[in-house]
Amino acid sequence: MTSWELIIVGAGPAGLAAGIYSGRSRVQTLILEAEMAGGTTAEAPRIENYPGIQSITGQELAKEMTKHCRSADTEIHELERAVDLELKGSRRIVKTSKATYTANAVILACGTRYKKLGISGEREFLGKGVSYCGICDGPLFKDKRVLVVGGGDSAVMTALYLADLASEIKLFHRRNAFRAQECLVDELKKRKNVEILWNTELKKIKGLKKVNTVELFNNKIEKHEEMEVDGVFIQVGEVPNSEFAKTAGVELDEEGYVVVDMRQRTNLDGVFAAGDITNHTVKQVGTAVGQGITAALEAYGYIRRPYYY
Ligand code: NAP
Repeated sequence: MTSWELIIVGAGPAGLAAGIYSGRSRVQTLILEAEMAGGTTAEAPRIENYPGIQSITGQELAKEMTKHCRSADTEIHELERAVDLELKGSRRIVKTSKATYTANAVILACGTRYKKLGISGEREFLGKGVSYCGICDGPLFKDKRVLVVGGGDSAVMTALYLADLASEIKLFHRRNAFRAQECLVDELKKRKNVEILWNTELKKIKGLKKVNTVELFNNKIEKHEEMEVDGVFIQVGEVPNSEFAKTAGVELDEEGYVVVDMRQRTNLDGVFAAGDITNHTVKQVGTAVGQGITAALEAYGYIRRPYYY
């Protein structure tokens, strides 16, 4: 089928929650996912703050959400990247790497991608010691010396995950305080093989065939130093996957996040957005799910125009 009532772009928690609600509202729904369903949630080593589930791996939660969504009769196309959007007509057009679809309404839920540091060696050694995903590449660094860069939840969670695998973890943060949740920081401080290097910036990644040294800079005492490491995990935040939405006329904020109102509506009629791609200040699985639900119910009202809408 190429014609749908609702197309959701992205199968992370926001897109899957929207798919569960729209499917159960009997709205013919297609979810397009560039990679595998689950989004970056599937890369979280553990999720311990999703209400009702004390502890679960990101992969398990993503798998359960995907199964739940499919059980609601929502179709999910994995490995099908949406590349172009035409959102201003009465039928919205979504072009992918494989086909062209039309829909009455669209929900943008295509999340974010890892922010890069943009330093020398980062690109050259990607897959040769440089990684953006602890859960994907951590096992390659068993009993090795690794470095994590960042001061948010992702960096601290990655360091905690790696602490069970690598022999030594150095966590570089450019300030002298974390922005990560305090319970994660408390846990990290208990790990004997983790050393936190405050006021420390990563300047260069070096090696021959793979990473073996890094250049760091202590911005407090203004001192450069070299350090031997086997792996570098970069966790310095995210960038929204919103470029194609901007081209289609969707309003973004100054950082590239999609501007939405309380009902998850964008500036374009029939176009909604949910999850990490939006300008909502909190980026959590729980908030993405809530936004996905709101977007789906609003899209339902928009498409079907029930008496109470
Ligand atoms: P984040 O909260 O934006 O933190 C990014 C960190 O990287 C900050 O400490 C920042 O330093 C640092 N940084 C940014 N650019 C840098 C640069 N060029 N050089 C050195 N350091 C740099 O990103 P995140 O940790 O990826 O988290 C993203 C969102 O997802 C957050 O809202 C977070 O709460 C959420 N999240 C939640 C969970 C969870 O609840 N379990 C897990 C993961 C992520 P400054 O502080 O100096 O800016």
